[in-house]
Amino acid sequence: MSIDEEEATLVRRLIVGMSAALLVSFSPPGQAQATAALSAPDDFVLGNLQFVLLHELAHLVIGEKQIPILGSEEYAADYIAAMLLIRPRATVLVAENTLLRFAVNTADGFVIAWERSAEYASPIPYWGTHALNVQRFSTVACLLYGSNPERFAALPALVEMPLARAQSCPREYERAAFAVDWLFDTYARKEGDAPGAAVEVRFEPPPSRTSQRLLSLIEERRLIRNTFARLDEFFSLDAPATFVMRTCRQPQAEWNPVTRELVICYELLDTYALMSVARRRGPIESLLSP
Ligand SMILES: [Zn+2]
Repeated sequence: MSIDEEEATLVRRLIVGMSAALLVSFSPPGQAQATAALSAPDDFVLGNLQFVLLHELAHLVIGEKQIPILGSEEYAADYIAAMLLIRPRATVLVAENTLLRFAVNTADGFVIAWERSAEYASPIPYWGTHALNVQRFSTVACLLYGSNPERFAALPALVEMPLARAQSCPREYERAAFAVDWLFDTYARKEGDAPGAAVEVRFEPPPSRTSQRLLSLIEERRLIRNTFARLDEFFSLDAPATFVMRTCRQPQAEWNPVTRELVICYELLDTYALMSVARRRGPIESLLSP
């Protein structure tokens, strides 16, 4: 087994443990789950999509409001997106557990992406602006644990989180919560502020049956539209912007401050769908199934 394979196996063990820990934490007997109607693969796709959308919106808001950031903006966008799933700002339009499951699925997605790059022997992007996928996984896991060490008491052992990191997670979570609160307190719309410019939400025709089905699901759940409604509630944009889901021949998402377009490519949905099938073969999906 190569070092990469060993790492992939270790990480898979970690996420299985994490999913089990969270499943135990999320499912008191008899409590209805808001995501019960979603299959585990769809939950995975929507969870990862929600995280990516929040990550890109973090870029938008950081740029628009010229928010000072120390360190990589990519790290900041990850922390903001993860915190908005783990600790929503106000009453959200979906159940709290739905967002927590989205956070778990996001961690899962980073693990699978890490495994895949090991499988294809892709070079590890040490010089990339993003954290390595395996680090993005550990960030989400640490914030989850740190958000409520009593509720998630079983998590560190199950994901083999080193004690030193586990002990630092509540502090890491508190620091992130403090920063997100500061960001909203400083830059969010105040009472009486004029509304900002509008965001047009547009979906171009999906290129595959998978993306067509997923788009119907996204629209049915109003995942994109509700997120932009929340954005409008919190932040005034200086100029109109557009959200567009389109075909772009690569699985990516991007906020472009020049064209003022936030683009999510249908290929990204297809990629998440493929990754969710990979999960289906393992124990992870059964652990995450409602
Ligand atoms: Zn980014």
